[in-house]
Amino acid sequence: MGEKREKSLTERLYYQDSYLKEFKARILQKVKINNRPAVILDRTAFYPTSGGQPYDKGIIQDIPVVEVVEENDNILHILGGELKEEPNREVVGKIDWERRFDHMQQHSGQHILSGALMKIGGLETLSFHLGEGVCTLDVAKDQFTEGEVRDVEECANAIVWENRPIKCYLVEGTEELKKLNLRKIPQREGKIRIVEVEGFDLSACGGTHCRASGEIGLIKITQKEKRGENIRLEFICGKRAWEDYFGKHERIKGIARRLTVKDTELGEVIERMLEEKKEEEKKLKELKEKLLDYEAREIIKESSWQENDKGEKIEIIKKLFEGKDFAEVRELGQKIIQLKDRVVVLFGVKEGKGVKIIFACSYGLNYDLNALVREAGKFIEGRGGGTYHLAQAGGKKAEGIEEALDFALVNLENFTPKQPL
Ligand SMILES: [Zn+2]
Repeated sequence: MGEKREKSLTERLYYQDSYLKEFKARILQKVKINNRPAVILDRTAFYPTSGGQPYDKGIIQDIPVVEVVEENDNILHILGGELKEEPNREVVGKIDWERRFDHMQQHSGQHILSGALMKIGGLETLSFHLGEGVCTLDVAKDQFTEGEVRDVEECANAIVWENRPIKCYLVEGTEELKKLNLRKIPQREGKIRIVEVEGFDLSACGGTHCRASGEIGLIKITQKEKRGENIRLEFICGKRAWEDYFGKHERIKGIARRLTVKDTELGEVIERMLEEKKEEEKKLKELKEKLLDYEAREIIKESSWQENDKGEKIEIIKKLFEGKDFAEVRELGQKIIQLKDRVVVLFGVKEGKGVKIIFACSYGLNYDLNALVREAGKFIEGRGGGTYHLAQAGGKKAEGIEEALDFALVNLENFTPKQPL
């Protein structure tokens, strides 16, 4: 901005007629907004971002209007290219009607929804935003039950189906305003534009609205969310609500077809499937437990025994696993020391490019497997540790794994705790 602009007033054609799609106007000034070309006209049907409603798009001559902003009393049409026409020449503007009508459906829908919130719950609308995808509306309330949401929606949609006229007019003077019983008292002075949903809601608003409530089609609250002291409602109206219904209907139909049930049975069927899944997971867990027990007993059969320094007999199981998950091997080791007293497990696992070793011994035995795993781990360039009774290390030198296990077997007796247990 920054450059000097002539004091001028743009006549807002959308105030009188929100259905005006095409208009003729005279160029007042050509300017730059952040290096983008923009034009000020003597009159426009383009709505600038204001009061929670986004700007219109469209074209002026054949140049796209990419954004419309309000600055003082001027409306700036920011353009996608340079206009050939110079000031004082007449140009033709066309608004993107689909976008505009969507905004009208959302905005008129918001007025009715705010009216319904006031009527049903005495709730004031604190703020409103009309987004690209969803619209939001904040009310001062702790919580909203599903029942309350339904009541508000039902009230709002009843107003839609009654097809009440929506009128816009100007009012001036505090006395006149007081008589109107507005949903919210405006802060501004001077002429105030009033939007009236006949016999239901009156509010001060500069937006573009449908001529009758029936054009809104449908109002649907899609989400409610706690935001500090307030509740934020997400809602959609008109074609957006239909598109949402269409998409949801397609998805539900697709799911019902996949499950070969009627859509009305979906809730029940999914409940049953979740129940079955839980049962099956429980069975699978039991089977895994049994399998682990069986595998552990089979491996114990492969054990060899040796005498320790004190002439006590201990059993040793040294084994290298390939293509088995490390977590499973670890569980197996733990299972073995549970099943058997006086047993030492020295396991190695080749897993992809890496290798791991895991050592475990029965709780009655007096070894320092933490220290042993650190020493043996050097053969696989590994790092790790653990407790006296359970320790592991992982490394990247796969070819050293046999040496690591052999080292552990031969040197086991040298690794006893410094302080006896
Ligand atoms: Zn409004």
